[in-house]
Amino acid sequence: MIPAQFDYVAPATVEEALSALAEAGEDAKIIAGGQSLLPVLRMRLNAPELVVDLGRIEALRGIRDDGDAIVIGAMTTHSDVFHDALVRDNALVITHALELLADPQVRHRGTFGGALAHADPAGDLGAPSLALDAEFVIAGPAGTRTVAAEDFFVDLFTTAIEDGEILTEVRIPKRPGWGAHYEKFVRVAHQWPIVAVAAAVSVEGSTITEARVGLTNMGSTPLRARAVEQALVGQPATDEAVRTAAAEGTNPPSDLNGDADYRRHLATVLTRRAVLAAAGA
Ligand SMILES: Cc1cc2nc3c(=O)[nH]c(=O)nc-3n(C[C@H](O)[C@H](O)[C@H](O)COP(=O)(O)OP(=O)(O)OC[C@H]3O[C@@H](n4cnc5c(N)ncnc54)[C@H](O)[C@@H]3O)c2cc1C
Repeated sequence: MIPAQFDYVAPATVEEALSALAEAGEDAKIIAGGQSLLPVLRMRLNAPELVVDLGRIEALRGIRDDGDAIVIGAMTTHSDVFHDALVRDNALVITHALELLADPQVRHRGTFGGALAHADPAGDLGAPSLALDAEFVIAGPAGTRTVAAEDFFVDLFTTAIEDGEILTEVRIPKRPGWGAHYEKFVRVAHQWPIVAVAAAVSVEGSTITEARVGLTNMGSTPLRARAVEQALVGQPATDEAVRTAAAEGTNPPSDLNGDADYRRHLATVLTRRAVLAAAGA
C-alpha cells in the first residue's frame, strides 16, 4: 500500500528538528532508518502530517569514548555499531545481539536509536541495553534529560520519549573483559526472536563474580532476570550451577509461535546456554 500523503523535512541540527516537531505537535513523526516506520505508514497504521527525517543530522551519528562509558549516537546504523571495536571491547553483548539482528540490508539502514525508540518487545537491543544499565539521552523543548534503562521501556512500543522529543544518544557503562553471549531462538533465520537471552558475566578463575541477564520477548518490555543474576554470583561457571529458573516474574505473550508456558521453558534453557557461553564454559 502507499502511505497517506505527508509533508517531509530533513533538518541539519537537533535544534531544527525539535522546532519542526514543536510546530507540528501530535501530527509529526520522526523517521530514522525507516525500517519499522515505513511499513507502519504503508499499512496506514499511522498517518502523520509531517515526517521529520533525522538522517542529515551528523551530530547524531557515531560512537565515542566518554571515560567510564561508551556513547552511541541514536542515528548510528546497526552495521556501524556491530563493527565498532569500542563496543566490542566494552559492551560485547550488544555486538553479539547485532550479529543476529535481521539481515545485512536492514542492519545497513536501521539505527541503534530507532530500534530502541520503537520498543518492539521482540526487538533484540532492549534486553542487552537493560542488562548493561544503559542510559538514554533525550532532547526536548525544555532541554536534555537522561533516563535509566529501567525507566526507558514503559510498555509495548512505548518508551519514556514524549511527543516532541528526540532520543539523541545511548550511554553504556564500560565492562571491559566481561564475557558475553546473546542466545536467540527463532523459527526462521533473520527474524525477531520468539525468546532471546542477553548474558554478560565477569569471571575470575572459574567463578562468576558478577552477572547481567536480560530477557527479550518475555513480557511487554525487555526484562532483567535479577533472581538469576543474584543466584549466579559466587558460583562456578558450570551447567549445574546456572540451572536456575529464569522465567520467574515474567509475563510472556502467547501467539502462533508458542504459548506463555513454552516461552517460560525456553527462557530457562536459553539462559543456561547464554550464561555458560558468556562464561566461556
Ligand atoms: C525485515 C526486517 C527484519 C527485522 N528483524 C529484526 C530483528 O530480528 N530484530 C530486531 O531487533 N529488529 C528487527 N527489525 C527492525 C530493525 O531493527 C529496525 O531497524 C528498527 O526497529 C527501527 O530502526 P529504524 O532506525 O529503522 O527506525 P524507524 O523505522 O525510522 O523508526 C522507528 C520508530 O522509532 C521512532 N524513532 C526513530 N528514531 C528516533 C529518535 N532518535 N528519537 C525518537 N524517536 C525515534 C520513529 O518515530 C518510529 O516510531 C527488522 C526490520 C525489518 C524490516
